[in-house]
Amino acid sequence: MNFLSLIENKREGKILAPEQIQEFIREFTAGKIPAYQMAAMLMAIYFRGLNTAETTALTLAMRDSGDVLKFPKDSRPLVDKHSTGGIGDKVSLPLAPLLACLGFRVPMISGRGLGITGGTLDKLDSIPGFQTLLPAEKIIAQVQKIGCVICGQTEKMVPADKKIYALRDASGTVPSIPLITASILSKKLAESLDALILDVKFGCAAFMQTKADARKLAKAMVALGNQCGTNTRAILTDMNTPLGRAAGNWLEVKESVDCLENKGPTDLRQLVLDSAAHLLVQTQKAKNLASGRKLAEKCLNSGTPRKKWDEMIVAQGADLGAFNHKLARDSTAKAVVEVKSEKGGYVSKCDARIIGAVIRDLGGGRLTKESSINHDVGVDQIAKPGHRVEKSGALCRVHAAHSAAAQVATVRLKNAFEVSSRPPCIAPLVVEIISR
Ligand code: URA
Repeated sequence: MNFLSLIENKREGKILAPEQIQEFIREFTAGKIPAYQMAAMLMAIYFRGLNTAETTALTLAMRDSGDVLKFPKDSRPLVDKHSTGGIGDKVSLPLAPLLACLGFRVPMISGRGLGITGGTLDKLDSIPGFQTLLPAEKIIAQVQKIGCVICGQTEKMVPADKKIYALRDASGTVPSIPLITASILSKKLAESLDALILDVKFGCAAFMQTKADARKLAKAMVALGNQCGTNTRAILTDMNTPLGRAAGNWLEVKESVDCLENKGPTDLRQLVLDSAAHLLVQTQKAKNLASGRKLAEKCLNSGTPRKKWDEMIVAQGADLGAFNHKLARDSTAKAVVEVKSEKGGYVSKCDARIIGAVIRDLGGGRLTKESSINHDVGVDQIAKPGHRVEKSGALCRVHAAHSAAAQVATVRLKNAFEVSSRPPCIAPLVVEIISR
C-alpha cells in the first residue's frame, strides 16, 4: 500500500475504498505507518470529511483492530448507553443495574474523565476496593452471571482508537464528526451489542456546544450504528446545567445510590428511566416509550436494582462494609463550605461549565491524561434553576481538600449562579429523539 498516495487522494477530496481504509488501519495499528503520516491523513479527513461508506469502513476496521467481546447465546439482549459527557452525568451508575434487572445483559465499557468532563471509571474508583480493569473473560463471565459490569476497555480492545485518539489530541483533529463517530462506535461495537442508546449533550459544558452540532453528531452515530447491525438511538439532552444536584466523583456515587433508593433528584431519575425505556422499545421488550417508562419505573421502585448494584460492585472487588460506612458519612473531604446567595429569589442560572472547571481545579478532574485526581472533592446540594433561595441561603456546598481551596472555589462558584425575582422558564432536559 502506498499510504502517501492515499493521503494525497483524501487531501484532494477523493473517496477512499473500504479495503484501503482497512489496510491503513491494520498497518498503523501494527506500527508500520509513522505518526506524522497518520496525522496528515487525520487532518485531510478533518477538512475533507468521510462519506457514510468510508466512515463505516473506518469504524469496523477500528473495531476489528483488537478483541471483540464474544458472549454465549442468551435470550437477554446485550445493551449499553454512551454519553458524550457532562457535569454531574452519573446516569451509567444506576442505569447498569436497572437494565440488568429488566432482563438485559450490560457490558458497559466506560472511560475516564479529561478536562471538566467527569468519567464513569473515576467515579467508580472512589468505591473502596472496586476494580475497573478486568480481563475480557471476567467481563463476559460477570455479564452472564450478574447481568452487568461497568469497567474499562481491556488493553486488547480497539487498540487503533487508542493510538489514533492520542494523535488527534496532539494534532488538533478531535472535533471531526466522522472521526468522533468512528472512535465512539468502534468501542461500542466491540461489545457485540444488540441495542445502544446515545445521550448526546449540547450546551455550555458539552463537547458539542450547540443543539445543531449535537444533532449532526447524533444523526451520524445513529445512522452508522444501525448500518453496522446495532439498533441505535440517540437523545439530545441539555448540558447547560449540571445533571442532578452533585458533581465530583464520590459525591456522584452517593447520588447514584440515592437514585437507586428512589431518593435522588428528578432530572437524574428521568434520564435513567428514559434511557431504559428507549432500550426496552429498541429490543421490542416494550411497545412504546410510555409503557417502557412504566416498566422501568416499576423495576426501579421495587428496590431490586439497588441490590443488583451491591452484587455488581462486590463482584468487582468492592469492600461492601467500607462502602456502606463511606456512604453514611456526609462528606469525605477535609473542608465543606456553603456558597451563600447574596439575595433572595429564584435560581435562574446554574452554569455547568463553571461548576465543572471549579471541580477540576479542586483536584476532582484531570488537566492531562497523567494527572491523579482527588475523589472526595466536588460540589453538592446544588440549587438548580427554579429553586427558591433566601438571602444568605445556600446555592451549593463545596467539598475541598483544605479550607483555602474551598474559599477560592466559593468565590468562583458565586459566578455560576444567577438569582432573579421571578421563577424562570425551565429548559426541557431531553429535547429530541433521533432514531434514524
Ligand atoms: N469520545 C471518544 O471516545 N472519542 C472521540 O473522538 C470523542 C469523544
